[in-house]
Amino acid sequence: MQKTIERIAGDADGTVYEFPVLRFEGKDKAAPSAYLQAALHAGELPGVVAIDALMPMLAKAEVEGRIRGPITIVPWANPIGRAQYHFGEHQGRFHLGTRTNFNRGFPLLAAPKTRLLPDTTLGGADQRLKTRLVQLSLGSDIVLDLHCDDEGLAYLYIHTRLWPHMADCAAAMGIDAVVLWSEDTDGTFEGASIMPYQNVPTSVARFDRRAVTTVEYRGILDVDAALAASDAEGLYRLLVTRDVIQDPSIQKFETFAGPAVPLENIDMMPAPRAGAILYDVKPGDRVKKGDRLATIVHAPGEIDGRTEVFAPQSGFILTRRSRRIIRAGEDLLKLAGDKKSGDARSGTLED
Ligand SMILES: [Zn+2]
Repeated sequence: MQKTIERIAGDADGTVYEFPVLRFEGKDKAAPSAYLQAALHAGELPGVVAIDALMPMLAKAEVEGRIRGPITIVPWANPIGRAQYHFGEHQGRFHLGTRTNFNRGFPLLAAPKTRLLPDTTLGGADQRLKTRLVQLSLGSDIVLDLHCDDEGLAYLYIHTRLWPHMADCAAAMGIDAVVLWSEDTDGTFEGASIMPYQNVPTSVARFDRRAVTTVEYRGILDVDAALAASDAEGLYRLLVTRDVIQDPSIQKFETFAGPAVPLENIDMMPAPRAGAILYDVKPGDRVKKGDRLATIVHAPGEIDGRTEVFAPQSGFILTRRSRRIIRAGEDLLKLAGDKKSGDARSGTLED
């Protein structure tokens, strides 16, 4: 394993951001390659500890000569967000300097060629970081961006072009659900990892063997050793299933038994009032149309001081908020519906 340090110039003299890149060389030029990154939203750490648990497994495979394709790992993909604290609270989702979500504004290339990347010499540090992450990942057959939700199931965002080809990946990882999307105009990292292959010859796109996904490893507090170990095993099984690593002791996966839900079926359930949330449901719960999902307590003890929110359709709860304070209009939860949402906010994945 080789470790190198990437350096991203800050926006003023004297500030430089650094992050490590860990690489395993593959011994077979024809084998698929893999790129894994975690903590692009810098406070989302289940993927960071999963990588920590994965590394000894990769090191063992390397010693035993079982790594076929090259593997690139960026355990802390966002040194800018990692260092952002505001009044003692970590702020890893938005760049404080530009108010831009760290998982938006990635360059969307017309083809998988690094020479098409924008010149960010005069851009901001966050643009330089995003361009560098695309450059590091471009060309890899497997690109995994490890995130987490507030509170949630383990689920994957997958582009419709890659489904159901990636059912083996979802099964290998032991994921609970898949959300299928098809349009990204905002430049998520996942979008930037698949857009370059949309309009190139099939022999280059190879959607049947490409794997690109945003992995949502449950909730922001789900950072513990047992989950990290099982997620690492899932990542390892995926690498074996997709022939990046050889391991005859691992069963290869093919079919995924869990739900694969189109993005337009997700009901985000905006809160009708500001207040304290009393949830009736948690991630994984099955609900029927008309079931109460939550009560917002906005005027405690007063008549009409509580507002109830009901399921607009049947489905299952994918995620909910980790904090119980909410403003009117903010999303209460994600309900993965059996049918198209009446309030379909199609477009960018909500990772
Ligand atoms: Zn995220």
